[in-house]
Amino acid sequence: MLNDQQLRSVAFLTQSARRILFITGAGVSAESGIPTFRGAGAAFPDGKTEDGIPFEEALSGWMLKKNPALSWKYFFRLEEFLRDKVPNAAHHAMARLQAPDRDVWIATQNIDGLHQAAGSTHVLELHGNLRRIVCTRCDYLDFPATFQGFSPVPRCPRCSAMLRPDAVLYGENLPERDLATFLEQQEKGFDIVFSVGTTSIFPYISMPMLAASRQGIPTVEINPDPTSISDYVQFTFPNSAAQTLRSLLDSMDADAD
Ligand code: NAD
Ligand code: ZN
Repeated sequence: MLNDQQLRSVAFLTQSARRILFITGAGVSAESGIPTFRGAGAAFPDGKTEDGIPFEEALSGWMLKKNPALSWKYFFRLEEFLRDKVPNAAHHAMARLQAPDRDVWIATQNIDGLHQAAGSTHVLELHGNLRRIVCTRCDYLDFPATFQGFSPVPRCPRCSAMLRPDAVLYGENLPERDLATFLEQQEKGFDIVFSVGTTSIFPYISMPMLAASRQGIPTVEINPDPTSISDYVQFTFPNSAAQTLRSLLDSMDADAD
């Protein structure tokens, strides 16, 4: 059961907010059928790939250089997880909160494009997008619907260098433009900040929540499991993203009647 009193408070704060930030992670897409990396039902519950190495190594910039076939094996696996998946109630709720007098920003670690598919317009893809394929040498770029039919280590049709997903691998830098926009928007400030479906292990994910909390800005965490930031957040909902955000919108609609 969701805590009604809490839900009504967050609904009231969200209704009156002119600037909202959602920081999102793999948990938001779990109810679209895309497994998370960590946690219950995850793709790598013990942290290791079937090759016995940590997934952070298999999916690292370093491994892609050293053993491209191994990294590509897991890119194919991830693409299979994403294939034909559609946004769920959590993505739709965030998109529905957009209004002429309300800016909704989404800083996501997800590489599945589902926030945009739900209609959200201010989406910062901090970890890039798996299906955007780029050449490691020239400026070739493609957005295939699937990786089916690719060779095990695909090559650029223009210059024959290796292709790769335009996703941020472990050990690589974040995309400069999206990161700069994220910092600019944090400077402008938000009226309420949500963290949804992320373990918050990266500092650029936990810091905006901790900073907002220090400044007295309402903070909300939605995650069935506690995380490293849970103790610093004003409102915690230990529930699913889809259920909680759907209830939040219902509560806002009820207040508007
Ligand atoms: P994570 O896999 O480390 O953690 C997922 C979190 O979601 C956990 O804290 C879990 O408790 C929570 N969760 C699970 N089901 C949930 C639900 N129904 N509602 C709300 N929360 C739920 O994911 P992360 O923190 O986002 O970071 C890991 C990395 O994994 C990122 O770099 C991301 O690019 C990548 N990733 C992306 C996708 C995707 O694009 N959909 C999927 C898996 C992993
Ligand atoms: Zn090329």
